Amino acid sequence: MPAHILVTGSTRGIGAAIVEALAAKGARVVGHGRSDGPGVIGADLSQPVAADGLWDRALEALDGRVDVLVNNAGVFEGVAVDAPADEWQAAWSRTLQINLQASADLCRRAVLHFREREGGGRIVNIASRAAYRGDSPAHWHYAASKAGMVGMTKSIARGYAREEILAFAVCPGFVMTGMADDYLASRGGDKLLADIPLGRVAMPDEIASIATYLALEAPPSMTGAVLDANGASFVR
Ligand code: NAD
Repeated sequence: MPAHILVTGSTRGIGAAIVEALAAKGARVVGHGRSDGPGVIGADLSQPVAADGLWDRALEALDGRVDVLVNNAGVFEGVAVDAPADEWQAAWSRTLQINLQASADLCRRAVLHFREREGGGRIVNIASRAAYRGDSPAHWHYAASKAGMVGMTKSIARGYAREEILAFAVCPGFVMTGMADDYLASRGGDKLLADIPLGRVAMPDEIASIATYLALEAPPSMTGAVLDANGASFVR
């Protein structure tokens, strides 16, 4: 029986690679983006009610059974420390809402669903190296949102392992999700490569292979694990 999986933020980048890798393994996957499209349920996760609506629609699209939730949707939007206070707070709210609160809302629905059907299930949260290392001066909120995701993942793993509900997090470093030149320029150009012993940023299919392993194959004893994928740019 194929695993039924919801992947958020699947319209491009890492999410698109995860859907492709899961489908190649025979999973039945429903994707998600900001608006409806083929194989994609639209839900703007900056809106507080959106995650619940997304879960309901995904459950229906998957005939009432979700086995795995992959929380991948996220934003990386900077705000300067000397921005006006209202702008600063709006940026914090938006990043925490999309990256952390919406993920938490979906995890909550997944845990309730897994408990109700008594079959267990898996959650894979795509966090970031920033959770452990921190990020640039314009991205305190991004790092905080991803650290929150890691804490949440560990709490779920510890809280529900007995019920066969497993939770994992992935912490990528830089991942080439746009055109190479644009991507590198947006993250600091050649300087960023000098910080990566592997000599290059990760490719989306590398993160997808980790997420697919966690979603379908990782042994239950691994629950609560946080897997790094950063070319040894941050080793802990
Ligand atoms: P991306 O910008 O290419 O794609 C993001 C996805 O999230 C898209 O499908 C987009 O539609 C969705 N999304 C964003 N805001 C949304 C909203 N308000 N409502 C609904 N959907 C929304 O991003 P990516 O680089 O592929 O990143 C995917 C995940 O990996 C993110 O959580 C990101 O923080 C994390 N990550 C990325 C990198 C990197 O260098 N690319 C590094 C570490 C972690």
